[in-house]
Amino acid sequence: MAATLLTLQPRAERADASVDHAIQAIVAGATTTETCNTDLAAGPWNFDARPGYGPGSSMGDVIPTGAPRQGELPAAYREASDDELDARIRAAKETLGDRVVILGHFYQREEVVRHADYVGDSFQLANAALEHPDAEAIVFCGVHFMAETADLLSRPGQAVILPNLAAGCSMADMADIDQVEECWEQLADVYGDMEQTDADGRVPVIPVTYMNSSAAIKGFVGRHGGIVCTSSNARTVLEWAFARGRRVLFFPDQHLGRNTAKAMGIPLEQMPMWNPRKPLGGSRADELEDARVILWHGFCSVHRRFTVEQIDTARAEHPGVRVIVHPECPMAVVDAADESGSTDYIRRAIEAATEPTTFAIGTEVNLVQRLAAANPQHEIFCLDPVVCPCSTMYRIHPGYLAWVLEGLVAGETLNRIAVPADVADPARLALERMLAARP
Ligand code: SF4
Repeated sequence: MAATLLTLQPRAERADASVDHAIQAIVAGATTTETCNTDLAAGPWNFDARPGYGPGSSMGDVIPTGAPRQGELPAAYREASDDELDARIRAAKETLGDRVVILGHFYQREEVVRHADYVGDSFQLANAALEHPDAEAIVFCGVHFMAETADLLSRPGQAVILPNLAAGCSMADMADIDQVEECWEQLADVYGDMEQTDADGRVPVIPVTYMNSSAAIKGFVGRHGGIVCTSSNARTVLEWAFARGRRVLFFPDQHLGRNTAKAMGIPLEQMPMWNPRKPLGGSRADELEDARVILWHGFCSVHRRFTVEQIDTARAEHPGVRVIVHPECPMAVVDAADESGSTDYIRRAIEAATEPTTFAIGTEVNLVQRLAAANPQHEIFCLDPVVCPCSTMYRIHPGYLAWVLEGLVAGETLNRIAVPADVADPARLALERMLAARP
């Protein structure tokens, strides 16, 4: 897939894009703006040892017991100043040269993104790594499922490194493989043989997983005739699935599933939610029989913060404002916005605006701040008035990046993410189906 990536601007143009600086200023009382949690001002090593996702919007989400924990970062990195870490990262990168590729997700903090060779969404970045088959190591400054995807697509022998193992994704973790297997068994009790085709050649259910899911879920989907989607191609993928199945089981993000299916004309009554803690997901058998899309009970805590009231306020305070939100936002928010689309859609929409425009954006604040700094001809602000970055992405502090890069310089591969072959093979199959399904 040919990826369109953000071109990195010179550092000076982006100097005011740092969400971390904004957080420090807020906590120091230098501004009246608020953060969603004062713990954000602490270094991640202060909360890595605690069970949870770190301070921020997902702090209240339940973390699975098996979620990776990060060991303590050596004091030399924890105690280094911002300038020292910046210099050490640059020096290590210079020494490593083409041996390493650094990938930075759109939602990553500025202090890390400035060192990235590529900036983009998770799938764009996994593909960017393919352009460097000779690199020994791919350092993925994102979250766990992204590093897994990069490992699935990378050349054998290339090491994919996640600088902080505790950088998970609360949404991806909401679809646990054991719960998904249990769900499939219960659906088989309702639908019968899951491989039996009807007169139109369609099986009872096709599983579809959002890219934001573990490799184990992608592997499950691959084993059961299913497919992966991104927020850019979700509609194309659902059309692919409906050509092969009477229903879709969509995980983990209920909002992307609902917003996409609704735009395709599927009634809400035919989209029951599957709550893994309830028998039959909380629905009756007849409701499941009638279903077109079964939505897994998952969500992104960052995008769930956006509300219709925030849009109303933006419209009242900024007449003519153009409101664009991510499809991980709740349905009412997507309906109230002018447009919805992936992070890359949002970026391209802003860059394509020829007249100075006011944009209110419903997605993660690091990306919004960076877009605002890169497009000074427009007024761009985040719909959420509270500064609340993705708490797991935020755990990739520059200290961890310096640590893994200096490890590579010393011949040590730290925090390698490697998907086992029995999971990787079907997961790759599900990704290949997505690539083939592109219009
Ligand atoms: S923004 Fe949401 S979906 Fe994306 S990594 Fe963070 S928690 Fe996961």
